Amino acid sequence: MQESTTGDAFLNIWHHAMFIGAIIFAVIAIIIYLFHQVKVSGVKDFKQKYDYIRQNEIRTYQICFISLGITVACLINTYGKDSLSFDWVWFMVRLFISLAGGVLVGYIAALVLKYYYPTRLYKKLKKWRYMPRVNPATGNTMRLLSEAEEDVHLDEGMQAEENVFSVDYDVWVDEKTKETKIEKYPGHLEALQCNNCGFYTMKVVREEIVTAPTQDTEGELIKYYECQYCGSVRATQFQIARSNDAADLLAALNKTGSEEGIDLINIEIIDSTGQKRTYNFQSVEQAQKFLNEYNS
Ligand SMILES: [Zn+2]
Repeated sequence: MQESTTGDAFLNIWHHAMFIGAIIFAVIAIIIYLFHQVKVSGVKDFKQKYDYIRQNEIRTYQICFISLGITVACLINTYGKDSLSFDWVWFMVRLFISLAGGVLVGYIAALVLKYYYPTRLYKKLKKWRYMPRVNPATGNTMRLLSEAEEDVHLDEGMQAEENVFSVDYDVWVDEKTKETKIEKYPGHLEALQCNNCGFYTMKVVREEIVTAPTQDTEGELIKYYECQYCGSVRATQFQIARSNDAADLLAALNKTGSEEGIDLINIEIIDSTGQKRTYNFQSVEQAQKFLNEYNS
């Protein structure tokens, strides 16, 4: 009798705690979600909005879903709270089911964010990237130049960078005053859109050197892509720069400077025997230092 009373008292406190926990974590999820939306709408510059969404949105939603998972686990722990007296087995079984329920919510959320959400995210990002810019000085609407037109406004370094690092430059021009606004977008390290399923889940799985570059001729490289979602494959051919192009690369890097927004610089060196070595650098400085030494 004594044990049962202690058990019931414990159960009462437990249910109470779980109930409060469920409310707290649900509120946390809602606050984080709303905070993100407010933050996004507070960023006025479209390019900055793009960057902010790209860097934060998925991570923010992950945290929201983890909070919701905890909410679900807490709620399951309150199941049958008024009709049951304390029993260890029942308590542990329910505890286990609640953990499984919470993990399930987290797992489903992870799948959604990994496969389904990037497509939505890219659409959203596209919207902000191509939303007509307004020249703050004149109030005129600017026009986005096409790839062919923009080269005039990009210096050689920028053009090389577009080719070498898969960086995209967008050039906006105010037709009346001829003022330009140049925006830089990352093109690499991101998954491509799959032609089959439409998700942005196409990633490089293998690379093959068909012809190795020499001092005088360019080489040929085939990249094999596989969709991480539906498994469809595709291959694309790339040129490998001549082996004495380290100086050109260096020029491109010098242009890039130590700008923010560069996560990784990946340099692949393929020698005349087809041996490939890959070097990753965290900063432009490191890569410059490396290329300087390689050049000499
Ligand atoms: Zn696919």
